[in-house]
Amino acid sequence: MPTYQYEARDRRKSCAKCRDGFEIMQSINDDRLTVCPDCGSPIFRVIGAPALGHSKTDLNYRAKRAGFHSYRKVQKGEYEKQY
Ligand SMILES: [Zn+2]
Repeated sequence: MPTYQYEARDRRKSCAKCRDGFEIMQSINDDRLTVCPDCGSPIFRVIGAPALGHSKTDLNYRAKRAGFHSYRKVQKGEYEKQY
C-alpha cells in the first residue's frame, strides 16, 4: 500500500501527530483523509514528498521550520511541496 503524507492546515489547532505532518498507509481506493485521526483537526495531503528518513526530507523539514517552505495547491484539499 502506498504511504501518504498529511499535515495540519492550522498548526495552532493541531496535535503532536499532525503538527509537523505524518505519514499513513492507505489503499489507493481509500478516501483521502480530511481530518487528523487523533485530534480531528483539518489536514491536507502533501504529495511529492519523499519518504521520511531521507536527507532531502530532513532538509525540507529544516527549511519549513525556518519559514522557507511553501505549498502549491494542486486541487481541492491537495497540495504539492515546493522545493
Ligand atoms: Zn492531530
